[in-house]
Amino acid sequence: MARRPSYRDHAVVVRTYDFGEADRIIVLLTRAHGLVRGVAKGVRRAKSRFGSRLQPFVLLDVQLYSGRNLDTITAADTLEFFGAGIIEVWENYTSACAVLESAEKLAVAHYGEDPTLFDAVVQALRELQELKDSEGEQYPTLIVDRFLLQAMAHEGWSPSLFNCAACNNPGPHRSFHPGHGGAVCGTCRPPGSPRVHPETLHLMWLLLHDSELDTVPENFPTLVAEAHQLTRSYLQWHLERSIASLKVMDQ
Ligand SMILES: [Zn+2]
Repeated sequence: MARRPSYRDHAVVVRTYDFGEADRIIVLLTRAHGLVRGVAKGVRRAKSRFGSRLQPFVLLDVQLYSGRNLDTITAADTLEFFGAGIIEVWENYTSACAVLESAEKLAVAHYGEDPTLFDAVVQALRELQELKDSEGEQYPTLIVDRFLLQAMAHEGWSPSLFNCAACNNPGPHRSFHPGHGGAVCGTCRPPGSPRVHPETLHLMWLLLHDSELDTVPENFPTLVAEAHQLTRSYLQWHLERSIASLKVMDQ
C-alpha cells in the first residue's frame, strides 16, 4: 500500500527505545500498514501530550506523518487499555510480552499488511487482561499458544497434530519434530526427537481449531507446559527459516 504523507491507523506498541535527547522510537504493529517504525518527538519531556500512551498493552488510534526512514507520530489516543490485568500478574505479563515479541517477528517474516495478525494480537491481549477476574486455575500460556498456532496457520505453517507429518499415517503419535512438520510416527521419527504425550498434540489441535476440552484431565498442567514448549519450538523453526529466506532475497 502506498503511504500517504499523513495517515491514521489502529496500532499496538511492540517495542520502544530512546533516541536522541528527548525522543523515542516506537515500533508499532498497525492494523492496515503492517509494522511501522515511528519517532515520537519530545515524549521524554514531562510536558509531552501523548508520550505516556505510547506503551505496550494499549490499543491506540495513531496519526503518523511519513518520512524517508522513520515516520513521525503526531497524535495518539487510547482506545482500550489492557495493562491493568496484565502488569499485575507475572505470568500474564510474560505471556503478553511473548505475544508482542512473536507478533513483531511474524510481521517481519510475513512482510504484509493483512489485518489478521493485528486483530489476533488485540484479541490475545484482551483475553490475558480478562484472566485476572476469571475463576479457577489459569493458564495464560494457552492464550499465547492459541494465538501462535492460529497465526502460523494463517501463514500456511500449520503443524500436523494427528497424522504423521512425514508419511500421513493416522495417529495419535508420540513424537514431534518441527523440521518434519509436526507429529511423527514411530517409523518416521528422527533419532533424538522428543517423546510427547499424545494428549498434548490433541490439546494443540483444539487450540488451533478454537475448540475446548470436554473434560480436563488430571495431568492437564503437564500437557499445557508441553504444548507451550512444542509450540515455541515450532514457531522458532519457521521464523528462522523465513527470516533467513528474506535475507537471501535482500542480497
Ligand atoms: Zn510416519
